[in-house]
Amino acid sequence: IVRLDKVNKYFGSLHVLKDIDLEVTPGEVVVIIGASGSGKSTLIRCINGLEEFQQGALEVDGNPLLPHGKATKTLQKIRTEVGMVFQQFNLFPHLSVLDNVTLAPMKVRGLSREDAIKIAERLLDRVGIGDQAQKYPSQLSGGQQQRVALARALAMEPRLMLFDEPTSALDPEMIGEVLDAMRELANEGMTMLVVTHEMGFAREVADRVIFIHKGEIAEEGPPETIFDSPQAEPTRQFLSRVL
Ligand code: ATP
Ligand code: MG
Repeated sequence: IVRLDKVNKYFGSLHVLKDIDLEVTPGEVVVIIGASGSGKSTLIRCINGLEEFQQGALEVDGNPLLPHGKATKTLQKIRTEVGMVFQQFNLFPHLSVLDNVTLAPMKVRGLSREDAIKIAERLLDRVGIGDQAQKYPSQLSGGQQQRVALARALAMEPRLMLFDEPTSALDPEMIGEVLDAMRELANEGMTMLVVTHEMGFAREVADRVIFIHKGEIAEEGPPETIFDSPQAEPTRQFLSRVL
């Protein structure tokens, strides 16, 4: 569902992504790990067109994205098919939880308010906050807000979910509830690409772990291999620092 072929990305003279080859198949859960500044967020952001890249080819669900961000039609299509959850929850502060979740389905997918509410209520229940629908984001805990963000992304019925450190801004006691919601989503067969520092989650949920080092995929494989017998020296060093 995602295919990157020798993608290169520069910020000015800084070469941030180097010949990235990556394929994600439907239903696969791929976790991306790597040191700060290695290019993880940039990679995720290229995949839904938030950043342009300079060389290579990128395709999401059959929609090609070209270097230098051309092809705006496909970009719109990709954004409706790809859900994203960021470190900062990015909820609309002036809208209730329910309105946060129904907004895009009504505006972008053209659903009636009634249908959008039905879907929103089901999704809020599913992430365990069905009773918070009338509140505003500022009245919720961080973990609850992040689960609203997850429900909001799912309301677009995405074919692929991207996560960029979804639990990094949370207090420790709230990390578990967000990871649980993500684990459940993975078990239901959602295709997911997840940047995280939660190595326990990666080990348990990932089908494949990718280690990025200085803009390159230094190593990839099943979690057991990456965590228990990493082959590349940078992977070993990184894991000895975080595990
Ligand atoms: P972290 O774990 O800290 O989130 P990351 O792996 O997500 O790091 P990126 O945010 O992808 O790293 O950044 C990769 C490199 O690109 C870094 O050197 C960063 O300083 C640089 N960079 C990121 N965004 C920009 C930008 N908008 N303009 C210039 N340089 C940028
Ligand atoms: Mg990042």
